[in-house]
Amino acid sequence: THGVCIIGASHAGVQVAASLRDLGYDAPIHLIHGEATLPYQRPPLSKAYLADSVNADGLALRSPDYYASRGIELLSATHVHCIDADTRRLDLRAAPGAQAGTSLPDSLTYDHLVIATGARARQLPVPGGDLDGVLTLRTIEDAEQMKARLETARDVVIAGAGFIGLEVAATAGKLGKSVTVVEAQDRVLARLFPTMMSDFLTNRHKENGTAFLFGTQISGIRQQTDGRKIVDFSNGDSREADLVVVGIGAEVNDGLARLIGLDCDNGILVNREALTSCPEISAAGDCAAWQLPHEQNTSRTESVQNAVDQAKIIAARLTGNDIPEQVAPWFWSDQLDVKLQMVGTALDADDIVCRGEMESGRFSLLYYQGEELVRVDSVNRAIDHIAARRLVTQRIKLPKDAARDVNIKLKDFG
Ligand code: FAD
Repeated sequence: THGVCIIGASHAGVQVAASLRDLGYDAPIHLIHGEATLPYQRPPLSKAYLADSVNADGLALRSPDYYASRGIELLSATHVHCIDADTRRLDLRAAPGAQAGTSLPDSLTYDHLVIATGARARQLPVPGGDLDGVLTLRTIEDAEQMKARLETARDVVIAGAGFIGLEVAATAGKLGKSVTVVEAQDRVLARLFPTMMSDFLTNRHKENGTAFLFGTQISGIRQQTDGRKIVDFSNGDSREADLVVVGIGAEVNDGLARLIGLDCDNGILVNREALTSCPEISAAGDCAAWQLPHEQNTSRTESVQNAVDQAKIIAARLTGNDIPEQVAPWFWSDQLDVKLQMVGTALDADDIVCRGEMESGRFSLLYYQGEELVRVDSVNRAIDHIAARRLVTQRIKLPKDAARDVNIKLKDFG
């Protein structure tokens, strides 16, 4: 038996390998890691790691000796060049950072393949978007470059008021940099939040000294002879910067899957059991698209929870165990003193109830469709968030008076 090959050793890929072993799978597992580091967590890259409060060792998903101790063959700095689905063979190449002289198999054969190739940062598609000092943030290498630039930078321009842009803005602001965030929409996180939450976050960032330019985009970047850049905006304005951070979203790594004809639609399409259109190939994490509970369309979710849960589903299926229930998606973001936690994705709520005072910086927004609770966004109320994961997954009917009353615990419902 050839066992399982996993392409991508991040949140999804590592979890597939770990869960397979936890569930007693005893055939070979090859975990192919496109990067030269030990597999690591991405969320701290824009948070604690950028702020220097955790080092590279603190990012590791598992300890260095974990893989060998569980019989997981970790191939670092190894790139899967192509898949032959007929012969179940992977063609391997050395990836950047591979050490000269390390022996690498040319190919691997699998019984089952898991694609966990994730996503990559979208680059800024304007003149000068590839200049030195215009940086995206996806890998530990990106974060190291950004940290080095931040040491000497005075002025930072950030393209995009999404989670990554805002988290970097928070960190750069705390480091005393002059920070400007440029956003094409008229407010932060406009596709994800109602105006009241966007305004709450914007005010916190403004208090930290961050300036915002809404309704405009970077139209070009010019290098000056003194090393600084001039950033031009579509509204005709411009600003000088030492560092430009690009946080305008991610693009799915589904190229390998497309080449072998797997069904894809903004992500590799998988069913409820995280199986692709080929019965020998599963997919999990940022690269996979599926139907979320209560939703009609398939979508891709870029979150640790989604990657880990899909990975556990694959491991359960491959070992003949019960498939874990799909839960409402949840996510977190840390910005300044705001610990934001969200569960559920519904945007078409017909009522939003606030639990706690927004001004106090400790509250939850509860979203309703009719009587049913469909989503909860919590700010510094982890206790609400933990309870809400279950309540939103079950779409329970929660009386609004009780929802508003912080003396009544959410966990007592449902
Ligand atoms: P990825 O993490 O994208 O990893 C895919 C891996 O596959 C990469 O190492 C890549 O090199 C490798 N690969 C791709 N193609 C090949 C190939 N052909 N051969 C070999 N290897 C290959 N999520 C949260 O829930 N909360 C947060 O607060 C949060 N903050 C974030 C902050 C930042 C800065 C970033 C970048 C992401 C953040 N996320 C957060 C999102 C979260 O990190 C992702 O959802 C998660 O990393 C997805 O894991 P994955 O395993 O699907 O893929």
